Amino acid sequence: MNGTKQVKNKKKKRGRGIFAALAAALIIFSVGVASGKALERLAELPDYGSAVAAADAVDFVEAEIPENRFLILVNGKNKIPENYEPELTELSNGQRVDSDIYPDLQRMFDDMRAEGIYPVVGEGYRTRSEQQRMLDDKIRAFKKKGYSEKRARAMAEEWVAVPGTSEHELGLAVDINADKDNSANDEVYDWLYENAYRYGFILRYPFGKSYITGIDYEPWHYRYVGEYAEEIHKSGLCLEEWLERN
Ligand SMILES: [Zn+2]
Repeated sequence: MNGTKQVKNKKKKRGRGIFAALAAALIIFSVGVASGKALERLAELPDYGSAVAAADAVDFVEAEIPENRFLILVNGKNKIPENYEPELTELSNGQRVDSDIYPDLQRMFDDMRAEGIYPVVGEGYRTRSEQQRMLDDKIRAFKKKGYSEKRARAMAEEWVAVPGTSEHELGLAVDINADKDNSANDEVYDWLYENAYRYGFILRYPFGKSYITGIDYEPWHYRYVGEYAEEIHKSGLCLEEWLERN
């Protein structure tokens, strides 16, 4: 090999190196933009069960109350029966939950605090009329911005679950956030993701399952399912998928 060729080869290699570096930079940039967008999206999410597919789901069926009522399926298509009235226990901050989930919830919070993580229940039980009020408020807000009644309703239903389709009306769902003076939300969400199943709770709207659940990823929304929590958590399935298979 003579000198000239060697130089040429070197040049070629450097050219390829630059190309690879540019490609890598492009990939890193696009991933950054994508996750940035996802985070932005997450930060914008209201804390009341934004129903991605609610506007499409016009046909409701009344949800069946299974023998084990902790496995009831409620979503954009399965509405809570009109007469569903859980017995409630009030928490120290005024939020309420189904009395039967209270002991496990309390035990979970005690254990978290023992590990130096401080959670709060941001939202527990919500009556149907409270859910209706939230939807009405949202519709009114969109109308104020100049949208027609029909359009305002459609847009509002993308943000607020239609009354009867929110798990919060069951008393079996809790939005758990950090007590901001002592913990960060991410600390709370990470702990819950790793441990909540030990107390009968599952992450109800996992990342990447919104095409099934109809609801965007919500790291704060936990649903009590009782004894099957570990099995569901370890299966990697969302509640809809797990119920379908069992
Ligand atoms: Zn929630």
